[in-house]
Amino acid sequence: MAGNEPHKSFAAKGLFIALMAGTCLLIAGIFLFLRWLQGAGLASVHPSLPGIVGGALVLVAGIVFLATILLVITTVSGKDIPGTPLLRGVAIRLLLPVIELIGRIAGIPRDTVRQSFIAMNNSLVLSRKFRLKPDRVMILLPHCLQLAECDIKITGDINKCVRCGRCDIAGLAELAEKYRIDIFVVTGGTLARKVIREKRPKLVVAVACEGDLTSGIRDCYPLPVLGILNERPNGPCFNTAVDTRKIDEALRMVLA
Ligand code: SF4
Repeated sequence: MAGNEPHKSFAAKGLFIALMAGTCLLIAGIFLFLRWLQGAGLASVHPSLPGIVGGALVLVAGIVFLATILLVITTVSGKDIPGTPLLRGVAIRLLLPVIELIGRIAGIPRDTVRQSFIAMNNSLVLSRKFRLKPDRVMILLPHCLQLAECDIKITGDINKCVRCGRCDIAGLAELAEKYRIDIFVVTGGTLARKVIREKRPKLVVAVACEGDLTSGIRDCYPLPVLGILNERPNGPCFNTAVDTRKIDEALRMVLA
């Protein structure tokens, strides 16, 4: 997976870095265009306008360039570098919308761009080498992982699952039991935010599709979220699946 195997997604992260480089080029292009406009009379609108706009563009381009360099260093070394949490914030808040736009212009499928973002996010989270107690980590699962034909209501309490094994909920409940960590099945972002507010974890391991993981990572920032993509053999939001071993691997990387 792009976001599923937190330490094995160099190609996906490479795409994100390439898109960031594209962002630098786009900003440089806008800068040059404005310089041309300046020549064409931007200063006639207001004498200080070229300086203000040019300065703002240089600042943004500088941030993107610096962030790209730091992302490359983190990706290659896997080490925590000063400012990694801030860098994640810049990537999430500032760059993601621009990168999605550039991906669209370049004809790259939106889910592919999001996979690369999730992989990059996971890389930055893991570079911080968390060693957390189990009660500070939480697993969040989408409701579509539960077999649609199963009548048991597990959203309030996953332990109501009788572990018949017809869907991955059984294995995930066992995993949470093994590590003694909180696990919740949520029906959407509102419930997910409520659970996080109440439990106040230090890190979340979340399973979802590209869109929900991307918005979840963005909404939760600065809380670190490790994103693991679900599998959708029956189409979106219906009887989805996840490889439990990937959750196990993610947990072993962050638990003390
Ligand atoms: S594993 Fe649990 S949630 Fe899935 S079908 Fe069986 S009882 Fe229902």
